[in-house]
Amino acid sequence: MQKIQNFINGKYVDPVKGEYIDNVEPATGKAFAQVPNSSIEDLELAIDAAQAAFPAWSTMSVDKRSRILHKLADLIEQNLDDYALMESRDNGKPLWLAKAVDIPRASTNFRFYASAIVNFSTEAQVSEGFMVNYTRRAPVGIVGCISPWNLPLYLFSWKIAPALAMGNCVIAKPSELTPMTAYLLGKLANEAEMPAGVLNILHGEGKGIGQAIVEHEATKAISFTGGTATGKIVGATASQQFKKVSLELGGKNPNIIFADCDLDEAVKTSVKSSFTNQGEICLCGSRILIEESIYEEFKRQFLEECEKLVVGDPMDPKTTTGALVSEAHLNKVDSYVQLAREEGGTILTGGKKLDREGFYYEPTVIEGLDENCRTNQEEIFGPVVTLNKFKSEEEAIEVANSTRYGLSCTIWTSNLQRAHRVAHAVQSGIIWVNCWLVRDLRTPFGGMKDSGIGREGGDEALRFFSEPQNICIKL
Ligand code: NAD
Repeated sequence: MQKIQNFINGKYVDPVKGEYIDNVEPATGKAFAQVPNSSIEDLELAIDAAQAAFPAWSTMSVDKRSRILHKLADLIEQNLDDYALMESRDNGKPLWLAKAVDIPRASTNFRFYASAIVNFSTEAQVSEGFMVNYTRRAPVGIVGCISPWNLPLYLFSWKIAPALAMGNCVIAKPSELTPMTAYLLGKLANEAEMPAGVLNILHGEGKGIGQAIVEHEATKAISFTGGTATGKIVGATASQQFKKVSLELGGKNPNIIFADCDLDEAVKTSVKSSFTNQGEICLCGSRILIEESIYEEFKRQFLEECEKLVVGDPMDPKTTTGALVSEAHLNKVDSYVQLAREEGGTILTGGKKLDREGFYYEPTVIEGLDENCRTNQEEIFGPVVTLNKFKSEEEAIEVANSTRYGLSCTIWTSNLQRAHRVAHAVQSGIIWVNCWLVRDLRTPFGGMKDSGIGREGGDEALRFFSEPQNICIKL
């Protein structure tokens, strides 16, 4: 069986203690590789390498750093098929989706920040005849980037690209459930002539090597994407040493359907926003709030569209919904559906595991639940949505805001004023009107409330991965 290695100082190396965990393929439920369960000894090697690489990398011309990142973007594009296959086997998502979205977006992330860094400028203030102030943005130093399993290379690269572009050296850890594409990236970093030690990739469990990266005094900033409970630990740990910290966490996103919307479009896109990537996207709309007058019609059309979903082998091009990432996650999703039944919900479609090997779950639609019940309040992060009625715009806003989360929201209406009014009233970092999952990468990305702190995207990320120094010159 293939053994994955850490990537430290430009070389693939075995973990010092020789400990591994199984990398299970969700489609079959069987181990297909072994992942290092790295320890503090591996981290020390990576820190040494990053410290040695930092002086040259942080002072390299922006043009040269940009060219290296552009090259890396090109190489990912050239390796699209291999990367997509690995992403799909690792995560359980349909191969076509990894090919169309995950891997192209990883390449775009590097390309975006390769360009952004050459266009990035800092601020200057001139007090005529008295003084000039300007802000220098210095790289932070060594930064830790920790990512989840749902969009493996996409989210991994979304962190490391701006960190590297800004001149930092990176210690990165992908999820132990989906390490494959991050593992492959080391080879491409070398081909792109990224200097050794600039990017170091360590594998293993969150509570071990993940926690060690956050705790180590040499990492000066931590960019974390994952669950809210983990984010709480990461935030608390990082703040002990006054590290910069960015947290992109969970969501329980409302998808609000007003009676004046384009119903066809709302139904079709809502099926996507509910079930794409098996519902394992932090931005999926898991609570569909429907104006009472069109509730029955929306439900009828939505269920009709759900019937067209095909759950099965991620390698089959006809598959719309692959396998969930792990057995533990499959059981978690199933336990929430059981809970929904106990809370008085009616399962309109789905509601059970598929009777076959692998971790498959039927796309599930539930109605009849109270807005405050656990099923409607807690993140399930799987192919499960609830249908809920509302009577007025005020009620829709109140229910939308009723959870601890505030990541994203979708609003369907043809009334322009209402679209703005509701968007302003909903406590969400991202609001889509009559669309879902489209975004200009220059805009800030992140959540309100327990969905996180800080923002990624555009210049926000370049600012996060740098320390501003205010320089004041008397005229
Ligand atoms: P998770 O919190 O279990 O793990 C995320 C990463 O953190 C993994 O690499 C894990 O190994 C590591 N980790 C775990 N414990 C750690 C610790 N104590 N210290 C340091 N690192 C630790 O999350 P997950 O199950 O991998 O991902 C699913 C969650 O991620 C969902 O809640 C989802 O909403 C969220 N998510 C959020 C966004 C966003 O942009 N807001 C994007 C994708 C996923």
